[in-house]
Amino acid sequence: MKEMIYQTVCPGCNMGCGLYIRENEDGKLAVDFMKSSSANLGKLCRFGMKLPYHYSKSVSMVDGKKASVEYAVKIASDRLSGEDVCVNVNVALLGVGNTTNEESLAFNKIADRMGTIVNTGMGVYSELPTECHPTVGVGVTLNDIENVNRIALFVDPYIQYPLLVRRILAARKNGAYVVSVGLRDLHLADENRYIDPDLYESELGLDSGSVIITELHPNTDTGWVRRMLNLALRTQAKILFMKPFVNAAGVDLLCKGAGQKGIPEIMDGINEGNIKTLVVLDSDPIELMPDSDAAAAILKKLDNLIVITSRDSPVNRIADVVIATEPQYAKAGSFMNVEGRLLNNVHVYGDNNLPSGTAGIDALSTLNQYLGGEAMDYQTLHNKVLESIVRKYTKPKYKELACQVLDIGPVEGQKGNLIYLYNPFMWFDQPDDNDFVLVNMNMVKKLGLRKGGMIALGSDVGTVNIRYRVENMPDGLILSARKLPVATGWITMVSTEAVL
Ligand code: SF4
Repeated sequence: MKEMIYQTVCPGCNMGCGLYIRENEDGKLAVDFMKSSSANLGKLCRFGMKLPYHYSKSVSMVDGKKASVEYAVKIASDRLSGEDVCVNVNVALLGVGNTTNEESLAFNKIADRMGTIVNTGMGVYSELPTECHPTVGVGVTLNDIENVNRIALFVDPYIQYPLLVRRILAARKNGAYVVSVGLRDLHLADENRYIDPDLYESELGLDSGSVIITELHPNTDTGWVRRMLNLALRTQAKILFMKPFVNAAGVDLLCKGAGQKGIPEIMDGINEGNIKTLVVLDSDPIELMPDSDAAAAILKKLDNLIVITSRDSPVNRIADVVIATEPQYAKAGSFMNVEGRLLNNVHVYGDNNLPSGTAGIDALSTLNQYLGGEAMDYQTLHNKVLESIVRKYTKPKYKELACQVLDIGPVEGQKGNLIYLYNPFMWFDQPDDNDFVLVNMNMVKKLGLRKGGMIALGSDVGTVNIRYRVENMPDGLILSARKLPVATGWITMVSTEAVL
């Protein structure tokens, strides 16, 4: 039996791990390793291995009823041609980078047509001087990490960006010293430090042969990003901002414009009635916001919610219009990973290389034409991508930035700071076996938690009883790698007690 083989990139994060998806004649999917992939050399993390589950196909819908893609595009254009949209005050477009550069560029052209911009959801960019953007956008190469003398680690690679672990271990083998400045002790570090951010420069021993590994996501505190940029500037260390979306670097280069809004800002705009129409391209705010129920309730206030997507995700169920596109692995197109490398989808049937799907591009092109714009085709968009977005890491060229870091603050009594350790399963609201939180031994003793028992967490939005695991980490923290119904943000102050 012949099968389709797709050479593609894992959508779990901005590492850009290469892999093959095999699809048999019944549509059943399987993952194969791609040893020639430069980012991951054939390895995949648990999320990558579960990709057949992730690729749930979307269905075009209009007002909750199944529809043809042509009809869905027509209705979307009718709703976008309304009076409010023409003056563009009540409309927001969101594309975080979960699809190809070519679709993102086509979406950007629709935004141009409508006199607006595509928001990439990373509100931090609008709060940073533009000369900082290249350093935040594209980091050092993954190979470079293996050849530095010192690594300052501000992420938890085991949970958040698993394929980074191999790079860090390789660097250690080559003589690098690894200091983790994260939220819990990491086995791969030579040293785990919980230090005052004001002491990073004096205590971390960084220089031009070092690298700082940190992250940027839609809920990142701007003050934190500024502090990381200052640290790189003062020490001359290289810096790498890991990001959760496969093409975050690509959309940053293709789609940014003045007036960028972060996802929380867009949600506030909807909640306050300032945004009446939202168009999203492979970006589900219900998955992306820390409190899914609150996000869904806010989205229901929209007059028009138009979803253009390759996946079946929660936002599809409340959308006015869903325009379904082919799965991400089957699209013609390219992605840019965290090191600025352009990675192309390739589509093979038997012994032949075939062009991959353009259903998404075609739908965006038709929509653009309905709105009075030009037709768009894949090859022209791809050529434009090749011309415009190839970038390499550039040394920091900005000036010292003023910054104030979000204060996590001490906790008193039976309270704790619940902090999300964002990871691919969390960004896509997918089930995982992380059904526990991490606490330290002091909290276990203080609350009298029983071995094998549970901890009860509570906040204004709910309560949850959950298993716990003990780790070496600072007092007062509760770390979670899955969404919990008590969280209202990246950090939530919660009540804690033992479940008896
Ligand atoms: S590290 Fe990121 S890109 Fe690589 S397999 Fe895991 S989730 Fe996918």
